[in-house]
Amino acid sequence: MYLKIKGKRYKFNPNKNTLYVIIAIILIIILIFSLNSCNKYNTKIRGEKYENTLVNLPEYQVRPCVAPDGTPTCDYFSIYPPEDGDKVIYLTFDDGPSTSVTPQILDILKKNGVKATFFVLGSQAENHPELISRMAQEGHAIANHSYSHNMTAIYSSPEAFIEDINKARDVIVNIVGEDKYAGVIRFPGGAFREERAEFKEVLLENDIPYVNWNCLTGDSETKNPVSADLYNRAIRSARDSGRDSLVLLMHDAGAKQATADSLPAIIKYFKEQGYRFDVIKRK
Ligand SMILES: [Zn+2]
Repeated sequence: MYLKIKGKRYKFNPNKNTLYVIIAIILIIILIFSLNSCNKYNTKIRGEKYENTLVNLPEYQVRPCVAPDGTPTCDYFSIYPPEDGDKVIYLTFDDGPSTSVTPQILDILKKNGVKATFFVLGSQAENHPELISRMAQEGHAIANHSYSHNMTAIYSSPEAFIEDINKARDVIVNIVGEDKYAGVIRFPGGAFREERAEFKEVLLENDIPYVNWNCLTGDSETKNPVSADLYNRAIRSARDSGRDSLVLLMHDAGAKQATADSLPAIIKYFKEQGYRFDVIKRK
């Protein structure tokens, strides 16, 4: 057998084994080429798929609850840690709105040029949507303190818990829209106890941050609190916390007249101490 290359004739007499080797080499080359182009194709398809998935993902999966170091967490202040030396106080009001106390609190906040965070109940918000709208108009954060505040029902299972939380969210969003909803919850009764672990887990799955408190007026501890006592407790507990970043727990439910009465002095004190007032919401 002769091979003709550039006009020259070359003698080519391969034996059987040489032929097998040549065929094997050709097959390997074809295989490498086809794998390579297949890979490029797959990358393209996967890239497109990935982009589509991102577009269709619920928002919480695009911006998950994580600490700056990447650790998954649903604790609000772990996700947004306060800056060192930033003297900031977050005034927070739970269990409202109420027609008797909430408007007084809104008036006091307005007069003092201070913004606060209201952890409202879905059931109360449903009954008084005009107060939720007023909070939004005046620049306060409207956060979620569950729909029913029925602790037996809410903490019966993670499913019951998240259903109640989502029901309250829907009520708030229906009144003020998605952009005015703070997207943060406070557990009824707080989230300090070990038994809340499974409920924190379901918050993490649903990408909902929660907020506790580190100082309080004690306005929910006695039936008929005295405003001076609430003021003193707020200052004492703030000092005891040893923190620059303070989350002050108060309540604006119907019976909390003493809370409204103590608020001007509380604001005055923290202003004099050089605190800035901020609101709690997803950034
Ligand atoms: Zn509560």
